[in-house]
Amino acid sequence: MTMNYDDVRHNLISMLEELDERLTKITNDVRHTDNDVEKDFEEMATQNENNDVQDFLGNSARVEIAAIKHAISRIDSGDYDVCQTCGESINAERLKAVPFSVQCMKCASLIEKI
Ligand SMILES: [Zn+2]
Repeated sequence: MTMNYDDVRHNLISMLEELDERLTKITNDVRHTDNDVEKDFEEMATQNENNDVQDFLGNSARVEIAAIKHAISRIDSGDYDVCQTCGESINAERLKAVPFSVQCMKCASLIEKI
């Protein structure tokens, strides 16, 4: 059975736009604090911690963006529901829950056990 992934693709693209927006906000925040030069040492230390958090948020957003882009390209090439590890088809329910999963339930649970 061939499934129509137009809706999924649409969803992924709006997720992507949301993440892009979030990432832009995080990046702007970092830039803003970098320009704030009139800080004493203690405040600067706090500032650095904040930047670490922002870096972390930025990185996880970037990872998510990459995963979503990958999923969209998988839809386009027609192997969206093919497990990257064993080649079996990924359960439709699983794809609904995690639209950018690249492995079937079985392979994903094997990895989680390791
Ligand atoms: Zn698999």
